Amino acid sequence: MDFFPVFLRVAERQCLVVGGGHIAYRKVQLLLKSNAAIVVVAPEICASLQQLADDKRIKIVQKAFEESDVNNASLIIAATSLSPVNAKVAEAASQLNIPVNVVDTPDLSSFIFPAIVERPPLTIAVSSGGSSPVLVRILRERLETLIPARFGTLAEFAARFRSHIKQRVGDATRRRHLWEQILYGPVAELVFTGQQLEAERQLQQLVDSVDQGAQISGSVALVGAGPGDPELLTLRALRLIQQADVVVYDRLVSTEIMELVRRDAEKIYAGKARSQHSMSQETINQLLVRLAKQGKQVVRLKGGDPFIFGRGGEEIETLAEEGVCFQVVPGITAASGCAAYAGIPLTHRDYAQSCVFITGHLQQDNINLGWEHLNVANQTIVVYMGLVGLPAICQRIIESGNKADTPAALIEHGTHQDQRVITGTLKTLPENVAHAQVSAPTLLIIGDVVRLRNKLAWFQQISPISSSADD
Ligand code: SAH
Repeated sequence: MDFFPVFLRVAERQCLVVGGGHIAYRKVQLLLKSNAAIVVVAPEICASLQQLADDKRIKIVQKAFEESDVNNASLIIAATSLSPVNAKVAEAASQLNIPVNVVDTPDLSSFIFPAIVERPPLTIAVSSGGSSPVLVRILRERLETLIPARFGTLAEFAARFRSHIKQRVGDATRRRHLWEQILYGPVAELVFTGQQLEAERQLQQLVDSVDQGAQISGSVALVGAGPGDPELLTLRALRLIQQADVVVYDRLVSTEIMELVRRDAEKIYAGKARSQHSMSQETINQLLVRLAKQGKQVVRLKGGDPFIFGRGGEEIETLAEEGVCFQVVPGITAASGCAAYAGIPLTHRDYAQSCVFITGHLQQDNINLGWEHLNVANQTIVVYMGLVGLPAICQRIIESGNKADTPAALIEHGTHQDQRVITGTLKTLPENVAHAQVSAPTLLIIGDVVRLRNKLAWFQQISPISSSADD
């Protein structure tokens, strides 16, 4: 390790930046985060640096660099495009033992800039000792996605209770276990979603439980798993899935997503295939309450978005009534996922100014939809659960006043590797689908936007099974 990692205090101290271009500007922006007193020396100054000087945030000395400029500096950065000048700065700095960085030249630098992940007051610095800036950038990006945005708030929250907990829990091992429960459980989740008061209440409960052996309360996260492609999970969904003690999941949740669940977590299948409900809604509602009351971190994982045809509302209603702590994590709904992966924008300035999501689920062989509302010009209609009733749905939409040659597409297994798109018109689609031996889940999109697929289809275009919307 040639470069030793440290965090330097630069607030109010003079930092000299030699150079007046964009690279210098980038370094100045970094230094400003730590309230350094910045002096820029350069014969020419770019507009962005000039603006900072006009705003009195930095001082500019417009002239060529001279050795004496390094006097009084606590830190020096050489960021000119001229190697001899940069070398001269490095030489002057090392004469006086002042830390110096020459941009992109680790050999002349006594310190280098790490890549930074900021979660104030936490800072993570990453360095490859100057060997591979691109690798460092990739690592930084990974860390950015792994660490929740409000991780810093959690650090501040923890700091507030540190001495209190130290007083209450004398034993160091028990204290460490307690902190793990706080920082890796429902309390942390409450902080991440901005619910500080409830987080405090639960923290207190945890502290009491250490003293009295009281039951620790669990929580439920109602999480949208998206339409299938695991990369369409939200960052929060992924984190909660990986932390969960129990995952209660639906048929629509893809196997790739279930593979992200911790190996030792319990997985409970809750259905539901059409017509063979494996668990009644009431049983699921009660199951979630029971698991949470056992102190478990429960993830209730549902396909798409839990609040779109997902009965998510009913499940958390029961949790709310029973006083169980819960949160809801939205997911990409089938309409967004299938539309994007089929190359069919749901709205478009030329073709559709509105879009409705409806369910085509049959109740006693009848679909009660208020068809008259579906005859709206320039509107895209998206039908969930419309495979079984497809012929009837298309027929009723025509009868409500839509043209029989309105383009329509059925997307089978949207966003999955085996996605297929069958296109046609309101009139021809049911027959096209009948020939294609389609299986659920499928999503129906109706409207002129479907035509755009001819141009915009991008996913799985090697052997498309679709026929043109103009057929
Ligand atoms: N909450 C889910 C919808 C549940 S209803 C969401 O927001 O997406 C179930 C219906 O969603 C299915 O019958 C089907 O119409 C649609 N659906 C879900 N995933 C799908 C997928 N990957 N491809 C096509 N349709 C899908």
